[in-house]
Amino acid sequence: MNGHDFNRLSRRLEVLDLEEMEMETAGFVDDYPIYCIRLGGRPRGRKRVLLSGGVHGDEPAGPEAVLAFLERKPAELLRAFTFLVLPCVNPWGYVHNRRENRLGQDINRSFSESGVTEGEIARGILSGKRFDLYVDFHEDWEAAGFYMYEGRHDEQWAGPSVIRAVENVGIIDPDGEDDENDVPISRGVYQVAPSWGTGGVVPYVYHHHADHVLIFETPTAWPMTQRIAAHLAGLDTVLEWTLENPGRDV
Ligand SMILES: [Zn+2]
Repeated sequence: MNGHDFNRLSRRLEVLDLEEMEMETAGFVDDYPIYCIRLGGRPRGRKRVLLSGGVHGDEPAGPEAVLAFLERKPAELLRAFTFLVLPCVNPWGYVHNRRENRLGQDINRSFSESGVTEGEIARGILSGKRFDLYVDFHEDWEAAGFYMYEGRHDEQWAGPSVIRAVENVGIIDPDGEDDENDVPISRGVYQVAPSWGTGGVVPYVYHHHADHVLIFETPTAWPMTQRIAAHLAGLDTVLEWTLENPGRDV
């Protein structure tokens, strides 16, 4: 499998012409920038949303979903939300179509450790910040359909609404994960469980920075347009859900 074109990703970000958008390079890893995009400036009462893709370099639908979200020019959403967006957390992996970084480190297992450059850069970006919602876009090579993970202390789950919306785009994974660590919430929805520790990006953010976290997993077997559509249907749904269900523990 070929790698992915990081220059193309950079160009698509550079030509974005969005109101209230700031783009910066948070750091470099193997000469590739880790971009950080802010949409909407200061929260001023709006919900703070964190989005990320490309933690695993061989899951290109993540960065593609982030790019598609930004290219859709989400101006309307800025009335209710501000966004911090990390389009590609593992650029070397993205370029080489590898899950891990150049040193073979899985960022999603070693995020809280020192010596993992991508993790150190991303943790620096997040330092001192709080988010009402975090969505991390992933893919699964083995899944037949979409599934997701969710963490929320009050156990008011958005997952069932997300699943209903994504079902218009494609099937929900019938088997779910066989992993014994997976705690089911409802069909296609599993818990971001305390047993995961904080080595993963989402568990780390849940522990330190966010009240509500979700991981979306699309099947790599689907065409790219369908994977992007599933991620965005899920994101749109959870954003709407967030406005309708103001958190009790936020
Ligand atoms: Zn992944």
